Amino acid sequence: MNIRIGNGYDIHRLVEGRPLILGGVKIPHSLGLLGHSDADVLTHAIMDAMLGALSLGDIGHYFPPSDPKWKGADSLFLLKEVNELVRGRGWQINNMDSVIVAERPKLKPHLQAMVSNLANTLAISEDLIGIKATTNEKLGPVGREEGIAAYAVVLLVR
Ligand code: MG
Repeated sequence: MNIRIGNGYDIHRLVEGRPLILGGVKIPHSLGLLGHSDADVLTHAIMDAMLGALSLGDIGHYFPPSDPKWKGADSLFLLKEVNELVRGRGWQINNMDSVIVAERPKLKPHLQAMVSNLANTLAISEDLIGIKATTNEKLGPVGREEGIAAYAVVLLVR
C-alpha cells in the first residue's frame, strides 16, 4: 500500500510584545511566540510531519532561520510551499491530527478557525484535519507558561 506517516513537534518561547499566532489565527493574549518567522508552532509541527513522512528532513532545511528572507514569514505561506513539494512528488494528505499544548489562553474557541485556515491553505477538506488543545497541568516549562508546544501526525497516500 502506498501510504507514508510522519510526525512533527515544535515549541516556541512565550514573550511580551509578540502576536500569538496558531494555525494562522491571531489569538488575543498578553504574550506571543518568539521566533524568526511568525512562530506559528502548530503550523511548524504540521510541516515537519509532512516532510518527515517523505523523509525530506525538516523545515529548518527549507526555510533556514539564517535566511533573512523568512524573517516574520507567514507560516501558512511556508505550509503552502511544503504542500506543493509533497503534491509534486505525487502524494496527497489522507488526514492529519495535532495537539497544541498551552496553559493559557483558552484555545477551544479558536480551533475551528485554525482548521479552516489549514484546509484552505492545503486545499483539502476540513474533516481531514484534527486539532486538539490541552494544558500541561501546570507542569514543566509549558505549564509555567514559558512556551507553547505542538505535536502533529500526518498520513500521506499516493
Ligand atoms: Mg518553529
